[in-house]
Amino acid sequence: MSEKYLIINAGSSSLKFSLYVMPEQVEIINGLVEKIGNNDSCYTLKFNNQKIEKDRIINNHTEAVKVMLEELISYNLIDGVEDIKGIGHRVLHGGEFYSNSVIIDDDVLSNIKSLTKLGPLHHPGEIAGIESMNEVLPTVPQVAVFDTAFHQTMPIENYMYAVPYDWYEENGVRKYGFHGTSHKYITEKMQSILNNDEINLIICHIGSGASISCIQNGKCIDTTMGLTPLDGLIMGTRSGTIDSSIIEYISKEKNLSIEQITSILNKNSGLIGIAGKNDFRDLENLANNGDRKAQLAIQMMKKSIIKYIAQYYFELGGNLDAIVFTAGIGENAINLREDLVKSLSNIMGIELDQEANNNISRYNSNQSGFISKPESKTKVIVLPTNEEYMILKDTYNLSKQLKEKNIKRY
Ligand code: ADP
Repeated sequence: MSEKYLIINAGSSSLKFSLYVMPEQVEIINGLVEKIGNNDSCYTLKFNNQKIEKDRIINNHTEAVKVMLEELISYNLIDGVEDIKGIGHRVLHGGEFYSNSVIIDDDVLSNIKSLTKLGPLHHPGEIAGIESMNEVLPTVPQVAVFDTAFHQTMPIENYMYAVPYDWYEENGVRKYGFHGTSHKYITEKMQSILNNDEINLIICHIGSGASISCIQNGKCIDTTMGLTPLDGLIMGTRSGTIDSSIIEYISKEKNLSIEQITSILNKNSGLIGIAGKNDFRDLENLANNGDRKAQLAIQMMKKSIIKYIAQYYFELGGNLDAIVFTAGIGENAINLREDLVKSLSNIMGIELDQEANNNISRYNSNQSGFISKPESKTKVIVLPTNEEYMILKDTYNLSKQLKEKNIKRY
C-alpha cells in the first residue's frame, strides 16, 4: 500500500493542500479551497498537468476537508483515507514552547490556541485546519511545523526588547522571528554544500515578505523579524522597523485607531507605500522608465538589506562563510543582487562573478549557484528555498517515529 502525506496551509477562509507519495517525495496533487463560509466558495485542483476548478458551497473547514478527500478518492489519487499516513500543518507561531516540529496532541493544540494573541491573523485558520482534520481523520498523526521554531536558539540579549521586563514575563513581548522553516532549509542545504555543520551564514530571504537571519555554528543567533513579521526589512507591503512614536503621532494627526495604523503598516506600507506597487518586477520596470518613487523605494529597500548584512557581519566578528539570497526577489532580481554585492564587496572582500549572477534566476536553466568568484573571501550564493519540503520531511519523520514506537496520538 502506498504511503501518502498531506501538507496543509490553512487560512481563515482557505485551505491549501498538497499530497505527496513518500519516501519518493513526489507531489501528486495540490489544491486550494477558497472563500470557505461564503456563498461563492470554490476550489481548484492541479494534478497530471490539468487544472480543475469547481464552485461549491463549503460552509466550514471540516466540509473543506471532506470535499478534498472525496475528490482525492474520486480521481483515484488515494484508495481510501487509510492511505494517508501523516498530515503536516504550517503553523505561524510556536512562541517559546517549540524549537522543533511536534506531533499535535491536546497539549500542543492548546498551546497553539494560547498563542493566537501573537498570531491573530493566522492562528484561527490554522487551528480550524487542525481541528477539522482531527474530526475527519482522527487516527492520522498530525504534525505542526512552526515558522518561529528555528529562531529559538537566539541568545537573550538578541531577542529582548528594552521595554519593561514584565512585558516579556507576563505578555511574551520579545523577538520571535519568522520564515524559520526557510532559514532552516537554507542552513541545512549550505551545511551540505560546504560540508561543514558549524557554518556561519547571513541568509537573505527576500520575497514579498522579507527577513535576514544570522547563523553562527549552524544555529540562528539573530533575525530581523520580531514579535510579529512587521519588524526589520522594508518589504512589499510592510514598513519594517520604524520609530514607534509615529503610531501615536499619526493617530492624532489623521484620526486613525491603533488597529487601522497597524493594518496600514502591514498592508499599505513598504514598497507599495512609497511607490504604489509591491511587485518587485513592476517596480523595476517603473524605475527603469524614470519613476522617481519606484527608484526611491528600491533604493530604500537596498539600504535596509545592506544595514542588516553589515550588522550581522559584525555580530559574527567577520567570520562569515557565505551570504545566501533566496525567495522570489533574492532568487530572481539579478540587478538588485549585483548592486547589493557591489556595495558590500570592498568591506567584505567579495568578488562578484558577473556572468554567474546574470545567469541565475527561476527563469533560467541555472536556478542556484555561487555568484562570487572562487578567490572571494566571502562567498555569495543563490539558493531556491523549499519550505514545503521541510514540512514534508518533519511530517514524514515524526509520523513514522510515532508508528514505530506504537504510540497513540492521544
Ligand atoms: P512570498 O513572500 O509571497 O512567498 P515570493 O518569495 O514568491 O513571495 O516573492 C515574490 C516577489 O518576488 C515579488 O515581489 C516578485 O515581484 C518578485 N520576483 C519574482 N520574479 C522576479 C524577477 N524575475 N525579478 C525580480 N523580482 C521578481
